Amino acid sequence: MSQNKVVVIGAGHAGGTLVALLRREGFDGQITLIGSEVHSPYHRPPLSKSFDGENVKWLHEPSFYDSQEITTIFGDTVVSIDRDQHQVQLASGSQVDYDFLVLATGAEPRRLNLPGEDLEGISVLRSLDDADRLKEAINTGKSLAIVGGGYIGLEVAAAARERGVTVTVIEREDRILARVASPELSRQLTRLHADRGTQILTGAQTTGYQCDFGRVGGVYLADETVVPCEAVLVGAGAIPRDELAREAGLACDNGVIVDARMRTSDPSIMAIGDVANGPVDGLSTPMSRMRVESIPSAVEQARQAAEVIVDLEPKKDEIPWFWSDQFDLKIKIAGIVHGEFETALRGDVTDGTFALYHLRDGRLIAAETVNSPKDFMAAKRLLASQSAIDAQQLRDPATDLRSLISA
Ligand code: FAD
Repeated sequence: MSQNKVVVIGAGHAGGTLVALLRREGFDGQITLIGSEVHSPYHRPPLSKSFDGENVKWLHEPSFYDSQEITTIFGDTVVSIDRDQHQVQLASGSQVDYDFLVLATGAEPRRLNLPGEDLEGISVLRSLDDADRLKEAINTGKSLAIVGGGYIGLEVAAAARERGVTVTVIEREDRILARVASPELSRQLTRLHADRGTQILTGAQTTGYQCDFGRVGGVYLADETVVPCEAVLVGAGAIPRDELAREAGLACDNGVIVDARMRTSDPSIMAIGDVANGPVDGLSTPMSRMRVESIPSAVEQARQAAEVIVDLEPKKDEIPWFWSDQFDLKIKIAGIVHGEFETALRGDVTDGTFALYHLRDGRLIAAETVNSPKDFMAAKRLLASQSAIDAQQLRDPATDLRSLISA
């Protein structure tokens, strides 16, 4: 399916990767990349790990787009899609025609709409501008409360502790990372954070924010206690930016529904990245479809979209994976942790170097590795090969993982 005019909405990781791949794969039609942010695409992961807003890590040097004859429109927002006319309308009033449209609009931080949420000192974290605000709040305050014990919250907790800030993580569920990690990884990370001075409250429901001379001064909890703080990060997950797609009548359900090659219900429109909800290899029903919010997935989906647009033979899908850095812990996860599973531990949790292999019906479904690149590589190969594995062999430090892969 070779098309002349490709328009990509969303100049984030997925959109920025796609436009570069299209040129690399020889697409010689017009490419237009439209993004609401004034910046060209940049890496978001450093925002929660180093808060280093001054040293932005660009996806490509800003001059790259001109050199590749990619038209960029930054600082403008697509407000509607006319599917009959094959045209998008921008907030500035201009229109752009497409033969092929790709939605790469990402996700936005979930707002909890609690009393006091607009107080100064309360931030979310998605963009460079958010990171600047958060950094400012942390630099001027000595105590930070983080509402939500997800990956972003824990990364910020670690970075703030390293700057000597007092940190309290407030998690509604009975464990941190409840939605995305195994109970064992949650337990180990809780311990590792506590050892480094982070206070973690679980089963703690945030009900609002205390005002202290016009700024946030604390977080109210349902048990009527208050967590005093000078700054708050709300890290309560992200929701897909799929309103454009919904208004245009595309099939959506927690994101834009796509097939295995990122095609939406309209043959001229694809969706990639955090906004796309599609089939994921190795998932069983009722979770056969999901949004995978990660850089590797954004890159993989951009590759799949490029293959469709340039009409290339599809390559084999990559195993989904994700990473997170907290203190000196390099956490890498291969596969999707979901449903029931048996866990085999390899390594030593006390020195922070270990891997949790999760098995179902004698096959690996996911592995969570901490400071153990060897285990991560082995897990990816085990997932790809779908070899039958015995949990006891995995637990045994004498087992050579390569022997399991070839088995
Ligand atoms: P985004 O990068 O969010 O880009 C979407 C872009 O679309 C945005 O710039 C938005 O402004 C724009 N847009 C939306 N609507 C419109 C519109 N109507 N018109 C024009 N433009 C529009 N993943 C990992 O794998 N490892 C990590 O360690 C990690 N750390 C992270 C840390 C932070 C702080 C954050 C926020 C995310 C992190 N992620 C991490 C997740 C990863 O960054 C995302 O999965 C990835 O950025 C998704 O790319 P995307 O292009 O789909 O969305």
